[in-house]
Amino acid sequence: MDQNDQYRYFRDYIHSRVRTIPDWPIDGVQFRDITPLLQNPATFRRLVDCFVHRYYDHDIDVLACIDARGFIIGGALAYELSTSLVPIRKRGKLPFDTVSESYNLEYGTAEVELHKDAVSKGNKVLLLDDLIATGGTMLAASSLIKRQGGEIIEAAAIIDLPDLGGSRKLRESGIDVYSICEFEGE
Ligand code: AMP
Repeated sequence: MDQNDQYRYFRDYIHSRVRTIPDWPIDGVQFRDITPLLQNPATFRRLVDCFVHRYYDHDIDVLACIDARGFIIGGALAYELSTSLVPIRKRGKLPFDTVSESYNLEYGTAEVELHKDAVSKGNKVLLLDDLIATGGTMLAASSLIKRQGGEIIEAAAIIDLPDLGGSRKLRESGIDVYSICEFEGE
């Protein structure tokens, strides 16, 4: 098995270990639960290795990871890539001066925040979350980075739900997207 075959095998392996919970937290949502990927030490290592394999030769200053499941992989990946680690959090969680960006949810709005000193002009930033659905969270996070003068290298996630159109929206706004695996439907 060469390195690329091994990588493809890892992607299938990760896909097979995501647990789908139908109708949670509300009817009609297929919740893609990543906790089985974290529980098993060998699986967690393979998960982090997929991102390491993708980014080890990229020039990245900052890994900006999104509240809350982005944090779980963020620490391990920032350590491996030797990047700065920056949290993008839901409103009201960051203690220092922040910039914030709101975005629309199906019902109502949400807001994400970034510490003002977390990203400097010209920083090369990798965005990370567990999953891309409508793309609203990643797009709001990318606006925060751009407002601080950061350059987005890519938006990365374990899972993409292409039918919800988020990754397409991100690409249309000029942001490259990487996901380890995809699930059809919502
Ligand atoms: P969105 O902003 O619509 O792309 O939603 C992405 C965020 O919502 C991520 O932080 C995910 O953790 C969460 N999310 C949305 N849909 C799902 C789903 N079907 N399963 C698990 N998490 C989801």
